[in-house]
Amino acid sequence: MKAIVLLGAPGAGKGVQAALLKASLGVPHVSTGEMLRERIRQGASPEAVAGAVQSGELVTDEVVNRMVEERLSRSDAANGFILDGYPRTVAQAEHLRDWLERRGGREVVVHLVVDYNIVIKRLTGRRQCPRCGTLYNVFFRPPLVEGVCDLDGEKLAIRGDDNELVIRERLDAYDRQTRPVLDYYRSAGIRVIDVDAGAASPEGVFGEISQAMK
Ligand code: AMP
Repeated sequence: MKAIVLLGAPGAGKGVQAALLKASLGVPHVSTGEMLRERIRQGASPEAVAGAVQSGELVTDEVVNRMVEERLSRSDAANGFILDGYPRTVAQAEHLRDWLERRGGREVVVHLVVDYNIVIKRLTGRRQCPRCGTLYNVFFRPPLVEGVCDLDGEKLAIRGDDNELVIRERLDAYDRQTRPVLDYYRSAGIRVIDVDAGAASPEGVFGEISQAMK
């Protein structure tokens, strides 16, 4: 069982790379951010969880670990999966390590490295189709018609936490709580593939990841 762990700041392109990896490897894309937003939409999350997501702080390890365990125990994840946005703390990384060890699995960590200024533009310019999930960016990948999905004509949405104040908090949480996860993996002897995800197109970045994983 191979766990592909995508690490990188918000806006590094984890979601886009996860979608490309899913299409090429045929294993599920597990995004904790998406799962949390879906639960909040359905009114199935406690206030504290919704509050953390809205303000850009991390949800507790306990809540996220339980949610991920449930997801990874489903049959479609038996041969592997792509983790996008998890683990985000060393405690989560340790939890995943234990879980995989018990199942004879291992992590392959892909670290998407991006400059701070690019991240800000990616996040402030990000738009998504609420129906089909296609991602756009008003600066880098605008839709053919402003504000409308190319594929199904749906009005594009801006994520509630993609505003400047919350973006600052999310980047801060990344620096304080998630960056140490890279050191955790390096010192545990787990391979970390560093990829420059700033300059190249998503397809170019994907090519680099595929090459390094061979
Ligand atoms: P994302 O879509 O990955 O940017 O996540 C959006 C928000 O969901 C984050 O700002 C956190 O509030 C929450 N979140 C997502 N994944 C995690 C995680 N692994 N641990 C804690 N909070 C998370």
